[in-house]
Amino acid sequence: MKGCNESRLTLQAAKWGATLQQWQDAAWQMRHACCSVEDFERVLNLTPREHSALQQVGKRFDVRVTPHFLSLIDPKDEDDPLRRQVVPQPEELERHPEELSDPCGEQQDEKAPGLVHRYPDRVLLLCTDRCATYCRYCTRARMVSGKGSERWRLDWEGALKYLREHTEVRDVLLSGGDPLLLADEKLDAMLGELRSIPHIEFLRIGTRVPIMLPQRITPALCAMLRRHAPLWISIHCNHPRELGEDAERALGMLADSGIPLGNQSVLLRGVNDSAEVQRALVHRLLQCRVRPYYLYQCDPVVGTRHFRTHPQEGIDIISALRGFTSGYAIPQFVIDAPGGGGKVPLNPNYVVAEDPGRILLRNFRGDIYEYPVTPQV
Ligand SMILES: *Cc1c(COP(=O)(O)O)cnc(C)c1O
Repeated sequence: MKGCNESRLTLQAAKWGATLQQWQDAAWQMRHACCSVEDFERVLNLTPREHSALQQVGKRFDVRVTPHFLSLIDPKDEDDPLRRQVVPQPEELERHPEELSDPCGEQQDEKAPGLVHRYPDRVLLLCTDRCATYCRYCTRARMVSGKGSERWRLDWEGALKYLREHTEVRDVLLSGGDPLLLADEKLDAMLGELRSIPHIEFLRIGTRVPIMLPQRITPALCAMLRRHAPLWISIHCNHPRELGEDAERALGMLADSGIPLGNQSVLLRGVNDSAEVQRALVHRLLQCRVRPYYLYQCDPVVGTRHFRTHPQEGIDIISALRGFTSGYAIPQFVIDAPGGGGKVPLNPNYVVAEDPGRILLRNFRGDIYEYPVTPQV
């Protein structure tokens, strides 16, 4: 098995003029990420639309794709669902009336630069503005990659001061950008300082690195993360083909380090907007020891109309999963309400009617059952 994997990787590396050792080095992957028309043309036949988009979008939001993720794309398929997430289309340059640069209204809940406190007991900390690969539907394109209208800034001392004073905060979510792009020492120091605040019970990291740059998941990183338990990780994966052998190995290393893993995916037109793809995705995630956590409606970010589905499609996908597969496989479908309302769950309606003595329920097959309601004293 190992030998077979090694020869596959050696072949992959050779296509890039690299040795196996170079291919497996995260720094090499980052240095060789595709950013320009010339870079992409070495590996994909760009369509005229992609070619034109690539020449223009960089002013607004950087383009960057790791060789690892590019190697998962079928170069013969112009509509490959992985390609669609990372290679820009001209629609990205459009701006529609419903679109916003900060769709989740994070700026208004910022308590110190980089610290967003919206919910009663937990905060979001934006640790960096860099990712291994930039997703074209990024909800934080206003700051991620450093090209947008807002400069990313983290006032670390200010954030620590706020957190020490706000004893109601028991959960800190590190996101960005991608926190796993920070050097081990830096991340270790940040996690350690957060851990030393007595009322903070629980840390989590939101990252797409196991998918985009699995080479970054090293034994040293895992050993460091393990020391900060309880630490949970939410990955971001949208399509079952993102979970190849390399991502699976990286996720296995994290799981073996005692880190519970969840997945947040975005429902995207032409990527994963069918029950079949979603079913294959959640099953593959469970095989990789990752519990599906959220399925997000695509935020109305500027330049993402071509990705957005109708909210009913997400509800229909949940209906197609619930009851038909393992409960562990079913994410919560949510809309992050524009204007800072936060995450709102959307569910199929299983309550058909209600009166004082009973409720009528619809099961997953559409059959109706009656539940007797005990009178409440
Ligand atoms: C998503 C989010 C969180 C975490 O929410 P959970 O539902 O607990 O995963 C916290 N703060 C902000 C601002 C968020 O957007």
